[in-house]
Amino acid sequence: VVTETPPDCGDAELERLGIELRRLIDVRFGRSLAIRQVDAGSCNGCELEIHALNNPYHDVERFGVHFVASPRHADALLVTGPVSRHMETALRRTWRATPAPKFVIAAGECACTGGEFGVSYASCGAVENVIPVDVKIPGCPPAPLDLLKGLLGFIASVRV
Ligand code: SF4
Repeated sequence: VVTETPPDCGDAELERLGIELRRLIDVRFGRSLAIRQVDAGSCNGCELEIHALNNPYHDVERFGVHFVASPRHADALLVTGPVSRHMETALRRTWRATPAPKFVIAAGECACTGGEFGVSYASCGAVENVIPVDVKIPGCPPAPLDLLKGLLGFIASVRV
């Protein structure tokens, strides 16, 4: 259970979001929220913003957001990119490997709508064309604070 107050990072908006996130994660899950990030075919712009969540400035682990190496250990999948045809089967398998109750967060315009890529011989388009999506975080790419706001909205709506 997350109990301690996170240290002041000097960014009032980040601190406010983080404290609220931490409170909600504590109430809804009673432990850290485990997220498996899945690149389903993105340009890596979204990945860079997601990776920034773990840098020393944002340091989202202190807010109870924990990125895990396996979908078998995850509460939620954070999926980026339009789903390339090459990744379609892998994404379905990753979703099936995630234990219920599970949630899918589409991060970035491509994951939400297919973006520039749409549906073609090479792309399945939006993530929801392949697996069920619970929440969408738009942006190209979404900045770390946008990702945190999206996570906050998602967790506020979760009933576990
Ligand atoms: Fe790249 Fe933008 Fe698509 Fe993210 S939303 S994968 S940054 S083109």
